[in-house]
Amino acid sequence: MKGKNHWNWKSGHIDKRGYKIIYVNSKPTREQRFVMEKYLKRALKKREIVHHINGNKIDNRIENLKVMSNSEHRKLHIILEKQSKIKNN
Ligand SMILES: [Zn+2]
Repeated sequence: MKGKNHWNWKSGHIDKRGYKIIYVNSKPTREQRFVMEKYLKRALKKREIVHHINGNKIDNRIENLKVMSNSEHRKLHIILEKQSKIKNN
């Protein structure tokens, strides 16, 4: 054990909620939003959420990311949570 409780990933780090934060023009940005904006070639709106398809918040490959509206995203997570409860039973 090296006793490090956070690690650096390139110029970024992991925030308290488990998202990868990178610095874009010295502004802290969630990496998944940055990756998606590059892919879409436009800025994301505040109400657009970038969802991690496999549930891994630091897996920011474009194929793991999906843009959803806030309400769609909330509904999806309710469904996913129910499914994981069924699996765990
Ligand atoms: Zn999500």
